[in-house]
Amino acid sequence: MYGSGILRGMGVTIRHFVTTYLDDLKWGFRRHIPDEAFPIRQGIETRGVYTVEYPEEKLAMFERFRFVPFLVIENHDHPDPARQGKDWCTACGICAKVCPPQCIWIVRSSDPETGRPVTEPENFFIDIDVCMNCGLCAEFCPFDAIKMDHDYELASYDRTSAHIFDKARLSKEFRYWQAIAPTRAQEEADARGGWDHKDVIKQKEKEAKAKAKAEAESTE
Ligand code: SF4
Ligand code: SF4
Repeated sequence: MYGSGILRGMGVTIRHFVTTYLDDLKWGFRRHIPDEAFPIRQGIETRGVYTVEYPEEKLAMFERFRFVPFLVIENHDHPDPARQGKDWCTACGICAKVCPPQCIWIVRSSDPETGRPVTEPENFFIDIDVCMNCGLCAEFCPFDAIKMDHDYELASYDRTSAHIFDKARLSKEFRYWQAIAPTRAQEEADARGGWDHKDVIKQKEKEAKAKAKAEAESTE
């Protein structure tokens, strides 16, 4: 029949219109409880049309979402006091080399007595206005020390210095990475051989080998 497609289309629209209000009534005030309502109402099970009332409400972020990078530092309550808050970055400079728009600057630390370079960044800058969120820095970092963040609320009224993020602004505890990307964090830990920094794992392996060798020699 001529016009049946139009009627069917209008039927779909009306159905969505009605189910939107029915779903609102079903959820009542619970629709504003993020942990309860959001995963369902923003997922494939949602019914009707659901408007996210940003900034009061926010879309659930999927794990591989990537925004401006952050630097991983050791948790402040790490069991080894010497590691607490320590940078995972070794200032190797690979991320700065691979960054397509060249928006990373690294200032390497140096030993105050000898003046020789130390494998730690004294400072680390990213121009977030230039960063294109490509994720190459995170892909290439051999120490899992730079990661793509989920924090996209970076707007400010200052378009100059406030958008040059320094080490203090970029650094976030390792547990933050575990919280926003649990699957990736687990995969990386499996590849490294543990939850620790690559160098710590290597050191532990070295010590275990030395201990086993010493024990073997003492029993001979
Ligand atoms: S590649 Fe990783 S370890 Fe090297 S400077 Fe960049 S963040 Fe630091
Ligand atoms: S995400 Fe891409 S553009 Fe941004 S700092 Fe990393 S490599 Fe550079």
